[in-house]
Amino acid sequence: MSNKMQQTKIVLIICDGMADRPDREHNNKTPLEVASKPNMDKIARDGICGIMNPIGYGIPPGSNTAHLALLGYNPYEYYTGRGPFEALGAGLNLGKDDIAFRCNFATAEKKNNKIFITDRRAGRGEFGMKELGKLLNFRTDDADVVFKASSGHRGVLVLKGKNLSEKISDSDPHSEGEIKEVRPLDDSDAAKRTAQILNKFTERCYEILNRSEIQSERINKGMLPANIILARGAGKTGEIPKFNEKYGLNGACIAGVTLVKGVGRSVGLNIIDVSSATGHADSNIEGKIDACIKELKENRHDFILINIKGTDEISHDGDFEGKVEMIERIDKVLGKLLLSVSENNLNTTIALTADHTTSVTVKEHSGDTVPIAILGDVRTDEICKFSERECAKGGLGVIKGTDLLNILMDLSRRG
Ligand code: ZN
Ligand code: ZN
Repeated sequence: MSNKMQQTKIVLIICDGMADRPDREHNNKTPLEVASKPNMDKIARDGICGIMNPIGYGIPPGSNTAHLALLGYNPYEYYTGRGPFEALGAGLNLGKDDIAFRCNFATAEKKNNKIFITDRRAGRGEFGMKELGKLLNFRTDDADVVFKASSGHRGVLVLKGKNLSEKISDSDPHSEGEIKEVRPLDDSDAAKRTAQILNKFTERCYEILNRSEIQSERINKGMLPANIILARGAGKTGEIPKFNEKYGLNGACIAGVTLVKGVGRSVGLNIIDVSSATGHADSNIEGKIDACIKELKENRHDFILINIKGTDEISHDGDFEGKVEMIERIDKVLGKLLLSVSENNLNTTIALTADHTTSVTVKEHSGDTVPIAILGDVRTDEICKFSERECAKGGLGVIKGTDLLNILMDLSRRG
């Protein structure tokens, strides 16, 4: 058998924020320790387990920095701010001088010529946001303005033009109250100019969005007006080596949330869209697994990253039982993947992990390690349960996030 014949495909399943800390109110157990999850446990039992430091000891990662690390990219070198990743994930193309922002639709009121934010998410009502976003594409003397509504109440703004800088503050006040005047963060002309452009954009948004018919429709429906755009996370796209050149793998990304899609796109993974994969707890996770099985069967990609976001969202809400249920739902669809891989003899190395810990008691990301289990041609260990504390006793030991891809490459005989 030639070496090439022995190579396996790689599936990396990242359950966002799935790892947790023990909860006193639940017998000092974590949601993973409470959930009934025979398929995750099978991956642990038949595979090799360990724990992983996504970015570094005690560093709480964001989903974007953690995903970069798990794809083998040092986030301290390649992370360029949330704006560019959100823009790429929304399907916009970025030139190297463009400045991208992550935005919210919000509700604002003008008093004494000042803009006050009364709801930072415009009541989370998405109605009309796609159309409203289209109104915010125009050309000014200073820059071309591109805006696109993305997922939920979010959107992306891109400024295209000469002499622009990402060294500016946010217009988003990050709480209700007066909108922030954008300021340059260094002495450059470009930063001063860009700050002015963004301030003018904000004023103009308020006028354009309030005038729109769709706004009246929102109000008639009893919804809050989505009449201002709050921008944050200014950044430029960086030079990132492409995944297929770095590893020789033809890779794909299956994700619901724009930010994770953006990380995938930034390294050149093909984005596979799955209908009603929203990144919320009610997302079509079975559709994601079906899409992955289809890719494996049709032999289109050597590497597939699947992100399942629901576990993170529920953790931010502090809902222990909801997290247990979500883990059990994920486990069911993982069963389908395992069955299909064995029935169809799909030669595949499967890794199951989380991108970071989002503890239901803390309701935030934390710097704890995350469990990992890898199924394939591995040195199996004694571990039979997929959980934070069991995996910590596994044969893989403690690994760094940026080592994961090397380990998977080696196990799949591609190293
Ligand atoms: Zn995450
Ligand atoms: Zn989160």
